[in-house]
Amino acid sequence: TPVVQMRGITIEFPGVRALDGVDLRLFPGEVHALMGENGAGKSTLIKALTGVYSIDAGQVLLDGEQVHLKDPGAAQAAGISTVYQEVNLCANLSVAENVMLGHEVRRGPFVDWRATRRAAREQLARLSLDVDPRSLLESHTIAVQQLVAIARAMVADAKVLILDEPTSSLDRAEVDELFRVVRQLRDSGVAVLFVSHFMDQVYAISDRMTVLRNGKLVEERLTRDLPRRDLISLMIGRSGDELAG
Ligand code: ADP
Ligand code: MG
Ligand code: MG
Repeated sequence: TPVVQMRGITIEFPGVRALDGVDLRLFPGEVHALMGENGAGKSTLIKALTGVYSIDAGQVLLDGEQVHLKDPGAAQAAGISTVYQEVNLCANLSVAENVMLGHEVRRGPFVDWRATRRAAREQLARLSLDVDPRSLLESHTIAVQQLVAIARAMVADAKVLILDEPTSSLDRAEVDELFRVVRQLRDSGVAVLFVSHFMDQVYAISDRMTVLRNGKLVEERLTRDLPRRDLISLMIGRSGDELAG
């Protein structure tokens, strides 16, 4: 059964219906790619799922129960975490402090920093990330900072991890490392929602795809059953034959 079910999601802005009755199903242990041309509604759907936008019509179910994600804190508390392209961590804190922010190990009223660092080290080890927890976040590349952001999401026990254009500024080796971590999370049962414009990456990492066009759902299918040519036709709303002609 899906961990997330969005049904009939409609969101309107003045003069534009950004989403028109869209459904989305996210399954545990799957990487789900959200596809569509610029303006199709991908970011709006993600913002509905993370409590940034309120929905005008439709329902969101988590583990089969209807929920109201009234703000980003509510989505976070429900186990839905987002890692953005621009990492929203604290550059001048250590890696350990970033991973454990809000989850510090306490002894009475005091933070036990040694235990907190140990917990951070365990989290990093769980994802096989070779990062010194005492180092400053800002001493690391954007790619490593993203991995730290993922480790932080997993401290909060995310059931759903949303990656919105995570690879835009990464080099080849950094993408490989990110995908290694994504596969490890998927194999541990996390539902990963992945948005990217890079077709090769989407086919390499995703198990399932949802395709949006002009705010509407046009397809949901297993990635292996959706050839690239068909995906492109669905995204732009024209057949391959028309394209060739
Ligand atoms: P995508 O992420 O697929 O590129 P978006 O979800 O960003 O698409 O946008 C979908 C549509 O909604 C576009 O027409 C966009 O201009 C519009 N839109 C998105 N956010 C807003 C907003 N905050 N205010 C007004 N219109 C918006
Ligand atoms: Mg856009
Ligand atoms: Mg977008």
